[in-house]
Amino acid sequence: MNEILINVLILLVVLLITQHLLEVYPKKLSCRHVSIYTFFAGLVAIFFCMTFPFTVNEGFNVDIRIVPFIIAGLYGGPIASVGLYLFIVFYRYLLGIDMGFWGTIINYGLIPFWTLLFYKKFTHSGKSAKLLIASGFVLFNFGFSFYIYHYVFLSNTPFHITLFGAIYKITCIVISILTIERIRTNHQIRRKVIDVEKMEMVSHLSASISHEIRNGLTGAKGFMQLLKENEEDLLKKKYIGIALKELERSETIIRDFLTFAKPAPEKIETINMEHLIEYVIELISPLARMNSIVVNKSLSPFWIYGEKKIIQQAFLNFMKNAIEAMPDGGTLEIGMRKHDDLMEIKIKDTGIGMDQDQMERLGKPYFTTKGQKGTGLGMMVAYRVIEDIKGKISVMSEKGKGTTFTIDLPISAENSEIDTNITHIAL
Ligand code: ADP
Ligand code: MG
Repeated sequence: MNEILINVLILLVVLLITQHLLEVYPKKLSCRHVSIYTFFAGLVAIFFCMTFPFTVNEGFNVDIRIVPFIIAGLYGGPIASVGLYLFIVFYRYLLGIDMGFWGTIINYGLIPFWTLLFYKKFTHSGKSAKLLIASGFVLFNFGFSFYIYHYVFLSNTPFHITLFGAIYKITCIVISILTIERIRTNHQIRRKVIDVEKMEMVSHLSASISHEIRNGLTGAKGFMQLLKENEEDLLKKKYIGIALKELERSETIIRDFLTFAKPAPEKIETINMEHLIEYVIELISPLARMNSIVVNKSLSPFWIYGEKKIIQQAFLNFMKNAIEAMPDGGTLEIGMRKHDDLMEIKIKDTGIGMDQDQMERLGKPYFTTKGQKGTGLGMMVAYRVIEDIKGKISVMSEKGKGTTFTIDLPISAENSEIDTNITHIAL
């Protein structure tokens, strides 16, 4: 009994330490790092499990090395699994070359292969599927090892001991996976809360900044207008005119870029999305031409309720990014398609694309890869706006190939004739 407790304790301690380390530095860790961490955690756990096996009746040993082996493989990837297999074989070799040694080589040899097959599916599965996959590994191993020991090595290990081992291992796997998943969910929730808090802060900050700057601009504009009215010199008048235009432009940019932070009440209206998208495409056309980008569109009419200006802003931000991702030209495709109660809007570019890490950070405040030129606010605004109108954004991207944003919007009004003037926005 003591040994069982020691084994389970070792598993849990290693697991908790690893999860803690992995979660403390989540941003800085690449897949390779996770794999290395998991490998070492698995190694420590396997070492202890093999050193302190559990002795059952008649001197038969049961050890649960397979539990950290499977878990480290499924969470850390096939390379970690191969590494651990080599370690198990090596350590078993140190314990002596006997039937158990050859059994280890054959029995465990299939696990890295299985890990390779199931790793991706496991990573993207929910809790119950994960439990099923991992327990499936143990059951398969149980059947396979029973066959090998009985019919190939003609060993006399009784069936009930092998069965007991399998149940014991599955129990440990279930406990471990449930613990890992629980810790992960807690961390995710905590990170979400932090994100929301940051968002709130940005929201307040940008509201006050845009307010302050706008006040300054309005003051400056007023005095410029006065100057212009009283100015006789035509050249000076022209210059003041240019300055005024620039001030107005800055004012619009601030208002448009930070619209969601506006404390003013929203005006909800029925929007013809075909016209709205058409208008945004018109706005970005000069920018597209300048970058030798061909714009293909296939639009269809549909109506939603929302605040027109900020929805325009969101789509403008998507399209501007797509164009900025194609500095050497390319194709920008805008498609609209109805399916079920949703309208799907696709914005597809053939630009520089994004890696997994970049895709995960999309929509977070201040995330930009454009250095000084970027603000990292465009996607945040867009994500916020789409979320507010109960839409869903999915991204597919490949580095060097291009990016496709798919935005699903719930259709909230049919064939409405109401389509008020489109507000002007500055690029
Ligand atoms: P900014 O454009 O100022 O950098 P955004 O919030 O608009 O800020 O975008 C954030 C980042 O998302 C960009 O810097 C870019 O790395 C990435 N991104 C967004 N859209 C695309 C796209 N279509 N193709 C490639 N990268 C993109
Ligand atoms: Mg942008």
